[in-house]
Amino acid sequence: MAGPGFYLFGNEEKKEVLDVLESGYLSRYGSENDPDFKYKVATFEKEFAKYIGVNYSIAVSSGTGALLICLEALGIGPGDEVIVPGYTFIASISSIIYARAIPVFVEIDESLTIDPDDIEKKITKKTKAIMPVHMLGNPCKMDKIMKIAKKYNLYVIEDACQANGASYKGKKVGSIGDISAFSLNVFKTISAGDGGVVVTNDSSLYEKAFGFHDQGHKPARMGIEVGERSIIGLNFRINELTGAVALAQLRKIEKIILTLHEKKKKLKDAISGIEGVGFRELNDEEECGTILTLIFDDKDRAEKFCKKVGTKTIYNSGWHVYNNMENILGKKMPTKINCPFTCPYYGEKVEYKAHMLPKTDDILQRAVNISVGVVDEGLGAGFGISILSSDEEIVDCAAIIKNAATEIF
Ligand SMILES: *Cc1c(COP(=O)(O)O)cnc(C)c1O
Repeated sequence: MAGPGFYLFGNEEKKEVLDVLESGYLSRYGSENDPDFKYKVATFEKEFAKYIGVNYSIAVSSGTGALLICLEALGIGPGDEVIVPGYTFIASISSIIYARAIPVFVEIDESLTIDPDDIEKKITKKTKAIMPVHMLGNPCKMDKIMKIAKKYNLYVIEDACQANGASYKGKKVGSIGDISAFSLNVFKTISAGDGGVVVTNDSSLYEKAFGFHDQGHKPARMGIEVGERSIIGLNFRINELTGAVALAQLRKIEKIILTLHEKKKKLKDAISGIEGVGFRELNDEEECGTILTLIFDDKDRAEKFCKKVGTKTIYNSGWHVYNNMENILGKKMPTKINCPFTCPYYGEKVEYKAHMLPKTDDILQRAVNISVGVVDEGLGAGFGISILSSDEEIVDCAAIIKNAATEIF
């Protein structure tokens, strides 16, 4: 039950970790003059920035932390509204709340990513940023989103946690907005157990993000105080052991994406053409390939299909759907949603109600996730194949899907 990188843990990770253990250095900071110090975190950051095609990357302790760092670097805070889709992992929303800003929910479209047409309807004088989430490895409609952001002078924070390795129109996701977040938890494309990455092309955002992640320090310090601290930061650093695993995994990512595309194509081809069953719209064919999403014409058929194969529609799958976020529904923001501080009140409050996004409800009631690389019941993807599945297993899985989808007529 995990993401593709986790399934491929092997000797490469072991070698990198042993390298660290033998070096005698566990912190990301070590003695620059000591040849034993291995720079795993720093090397990971350099290679990750190169892979995504950005100037800067900072390895941090989680994807959630990465999102909070993005918001803090942009100076988003009390009274600011941030636009976010109603279908996303809770961390997109909770990071906005802990930045003391206000999440504003927007519909998704049949790509299961944020609907650009609805973004424009939800913009107010207080809107500061849009947080598109590349859900289930599918890039958002970034052209339209960047155009809207430009028109209204908004920041774009890409939540690329579920889409490491996906591209949109030739650019890696995470390299398009102002600043972006990735996750390295066990359900993601590549994993270090836990961890995250912040990336940006902007040197000033990089400096702020780095400082927030490391007690306000300037980038490129090696554990020694360099110059003055311009901001107040916290600690979201990762250590060399995590960096070592992340580095070994990063060097496998291209192979992972290729393999997922291959397996997904086989599964998709084998089940194409069933009446009343289509697929989620892909905003770019160079998505991750981690999930195959079926979209039924009719929600009752989707339900019946799920009963037959022993899975759930996305709508009923759990915590990635705003309707299932019991700790947010019924609340008004700004408020004290389990926050250790009181959020000041600025003007009208934003309210969160069940069924406030009818288009999202309708699509998710008809949508079923089949695992390809991410096997996760919490995502509604407990059924399907994994990156290790053989051709026979793919054929068997396709047969179960076809039979179930045909029987329910
Ligand atoms: C996984 C994920 C995160 C961050 O998760 P962490 O477990 O904190 O690394 C953020 N947003 C989305 C959409 C995610 O799927």
